Amino acid sequence: MISEWEMSYQKQCSKCKKIKFFSEFTKNKKGKFGLVSNCNECRKQYAAKYYEKNKEKISKKK
Ligand SMILES: [Zn+2]
Repeated sequence: MISEWEMSYQKQCSKCKKIKFFSEFTKNKKGKFGLVSNCNECRKQYAAKYYEKNKEKISKKK
């Protein structure tokens, strides 16, 4: 659920440098504003790249 707080404030993604709503960031208690520094889109791309790089390892792991 997106709160009013998440819809009202924006911050810059440290990766793509785009200004995005707080709702675009995953929460992280240790991070600034209680959010991670990279937006969800960058995190998704990173995860996809990571998967691509490691899919052999991952598929073998069972
Ligand atoms: Zn980003």
